[in-house]
Amino acid sequence: MTPVKNKTQLIDPHGRRVRKLRVSLLDACNFRCFYCMPMNATFMKASKWLSPTAIENVCSTLSEYGLEQIRVTGGEPTMRKEFRDILTRLSKLNIQKLGMTTNGYYLEKELEFLKDTRCRHINISLDSLSKDKFNTITRRESFDQVYSSILRAKEMGFNVKVNTVLMRGINDSEIFDFIKFSSTYDIEVRFLEVMKIGQACGSQDDLFISANEAVAKIKSQHELQIEPMDFDSTSFNFKTPSGAKIGFIASESKPFCGACSRWRLSADGFLRACLMSNKGVKVKDVEPENYKPLLESLLLMKPINRIKHVHEDMNQIGG
Ligand code: SAM
Ligand code: SF4
Repeated sequence: MTPVKNKTQLIDPHGRRVRKLRVSLLDACNFRCFYCMPMNATFMKASKWLSPTAIENVCSTLSEYGLEQIRVTGGEPTMRKEFRDILTRLSKLNIQKLGMTTNGYYLEKELEFLKDTRCRHINISLDSLSKDKFNTITRRESFDQVYSSILRAKEMGFNVKVNTVLMRGINDSEIFDFIKFSSTYDIEVRFLEVMKIGQACGSQDDLFISANEAVAKIKSQHELQIEPMDFDSTSFNFKTPSGAKIGFIASESKPFCGACSRWRLSADGFLRACLMSNKGVKVKDVEPENYKPLLESLLLMKPINRIKHVHEDMNQIGG
């Protein structure tokens, strides 16, 4: 076995260094976005979750191997009752960046707490600026809470991004409204391609809009200036002269596997090297001193080519 020689860096045989980790706190969620999970979704028992100490141990060990960025996600991370405990622990780690991805529903009441942590980067999902459409997509009546949490987080100085899954016939008519939203509030909007994951596999062909198609549509009305990005960025970004900041995560049409630097930790302690692959290693109940061979084997599991689809739902993997 090649890679981990000493506690330096996690570099796979293709030269990709692991420096980012997505940490799912739970698979449950209070929304039911139709492309993400079924109405009657069942969730893992809380007894299966990694404890806050175990999450801290995994992240702390990975930070010794060069991990630089952690993003907490789920399901809906703010629903985990130990959310604050976990964020407090992660804030103490020797990493450069701590962030979270949330549906925004419970966010506003966490902002005062979060401002005293190192979590400065908050991505909030908002698939429509129309209340009715938003409620139809999420299958919950929650637009007002989410919208107000976005503006409040921005006002409080967090680095806020809005994630919008662009879907044909659903919200593609709102592209220009999102651009206006971005320039009005100085909030970056990132358009995601619908990925062939779980629930979305069946309807993906009908819903799918490529980033190229969206860019062409936007160019009909706006000049797009390219923004420089990190080599392992999952998005490519533009600015408009009106000040809108927009990004595209083209996971389907322009996969970024060749430069991917990310691993994922599921709520029940399964560490996987790729969103689209169900291969991984179980770290639950493993003592940190025994991680090394597991990390070495995981380095060899990261695919170099894009896997076409995965049957687990996004909330189960940790989006
Ligand atoms: N509940 C939180 C939220 O919605 O932000 C965090 C977890 S959610 C799984 C993370 C992101 O994955 C959301 O922005 C969601 O829209 C996106 N997502 C879920 N299923 C997707 C799919 N099939 N294709 C593209 N994005 C998807
Ligand atoms: Fe919940 Fe996020 Fe999935 Fe929507 S996308 S159902 S908010 S986990």
